[in-house]
Amino acid sequence: MKTIDHWIGGKATAASSTRTAPVFNPATGAQQAEVLLASKADVDLAVGAATQAFESWSQASLSQRAKVLFAFREQVFNQIDELAALITDEHGKVLSDAAGEVQRGLEVVEFACGIPQLLKGDYSDQASTGVDVFSFREPLGAVAGITPFNFPVMVPMWMHPVAIACGNTFVLKPSERDPSASMLVAELWQRAGLPDGVFNVVHGDKEAVDALLDSPGVAAVSFVGSTPIARYIHERASATGKRVQALGGAKNHAIVMPDADIDFAAEHLVAAAFGSAGERCMAISAAVAVGAAGDAVVDAVTAKAAAVKVGSGRDAANEMGPVVTKAAQERIVGLIGTGETQGARLTVDGRGLVVDGFEAGFFVGPTVIDDVTTDMDVYREEIFGPVLSVLRVDTVEEAIALINANPYGNGTAIFTASGDTARRFQRGVKVGMIGINVPIPVPMAYYSFGGWKDSLFGDKHVHGPEGVSFYTRAKVVTSRWPERHHTAEASYHFPTAT
Ligand code: NAD
Repeated sequence: MKTIDHWIGGKATAASSTRTAPVFNPATGAQQAEVLLASKADVDLAVGAATQAFESWSQASLSQRAKVLFAFREQVFNQIDELAALITDEHGKVLSDAAGEVQRGLEVVEFACGIPQLLKGDYSDQASTGVDVFSFREPLGAVAGITPFNFPVMVPMWMHPVAIACGNTFVLKPSERDPSASMLVAELWQRAGLPDGVFNVVHGDKEAVDALLDSPGVAAVSFVGSTPIARYIHERASATGKRVQALGGAKNHAIVMPDADIDFAAEHLVAAAFGSAGERCMAISAAVAVGAAGDAVVDAVTAKAAAVKVGSGRDAANEMGPVVTKAAQERIVGLIGTGETQGARLTVDGRGLVVDGFEAGFFVGPTVIDDVTTDMDVYREEIFGPVLSVLRVDTVEEAIALINANPYGNGTAIFTASGDTARRFQRGVKVGMIGINVPIPVPMAYYSFGGWKDSLFGDKHVHGPEGVSFYTRAKVVTSRWPERHHTAEASYHFPTAT
């Protein structure tokens, strides 16, 4: 059985780990590796390596850092297929989807290549007579990233390229369910010329996470995962004085107006609900059909959902792979059952799907549930599987109120032909990322990504300008160079500009 090590100080190492967790191939259902689970001592080793590396990396010039970022960009670009294969074999998503995730991560690396421009400060000449004021930003130190299973390359890349470009060093604690891609990423950083110790990977579970949260050597924590854990991370890391951004779960709604192109909307709804088996924080899990759109949306979505090709992610003919674990499969199947018992109507039922040749795989087929109401479990829970609920309302105002009453606020979309309706929607919803006829409105790397309400704990979104701000802190310098013979008197009242 293959063992997946940590990556500390520029090499793969078992450190002192004694515990392990199984890593499965979700398509076959078979265990294919075991991953080490770090103890507090292992985490301390990684934080120690990052702390030591910070001394010189934080002093590296902007052009030295930009050179490494450009080289890393080439390394990742040349390894898209290898990274995608690692993702597919441990996560289950289809190869094209895995390659798309790497591409979106790569865009953050490209954004970080512009670090000399991004870190330019401000300068005010002659703020007072003979006095200039200027500002610049410095890195924080060793920072940590704790990431979920569903984007094992992209989500860590929301963090480490920006953190490292800003002059920080990084300890990544990826999901223990699909840990291999992070090891290849560590090698790619090394090949790009990043000094040892600047990027480290510790695998693990709660024990490793708690050690990072409590470590006095960690200056900031970026987290992406489910809402209960995000809330916990924010509270515990804040209690030890760290800067924290913790992105949580989601329940993303798409409104379909009666004036929308229903076929276009249904096509995009199905892809947004069932792509990656619904295991995306920006997946659409609730369609809100307004007025006369109702029956037409349900009919079109039902036909398209039933036609989705489900199977191994390695087969290019498939559009959707398995879910990540047996436990996830059982939880999703159970929730579909509650929809039925609580009075909703299944128009496509993905329970019991068996894929030829992959009988032990963790598959759940696309599922569409009509007549869902806000008190049902399928609506209240983040299912994180291939399940689309349809709710029906009479007006767009009702639809917006429904979205705003939901505790999550990650992403949302509207399908409409009316600019006026779209504008009312974009101004009215309390959600961080909004799509107009775009069902998965993931911001480009040069904007920042993040939700509102229970989808984010902390102030700053990831990557883009807010990412640079999160991983740096400002200094403002007020300076005067008096000439020696100049005999100005110091004043004893509070300094004001002259
Ligand atoms: P998760 O919360 O179970 O795990 C995320 C990370 O936290 C993992 O590294 C895991 O090892 C660690 N962790 C798990 N339990 C812990 C505990 N008790 N104490 C400390 N650490 C713990 O999430 P997941 O199942 O890996 O990922 C799916 C979730 O992530 C979904 O809720 C999804 O919406 C969310 N997500 C959100 C975004 C976003 O941008 N808001 C993006 C991707 C995923």
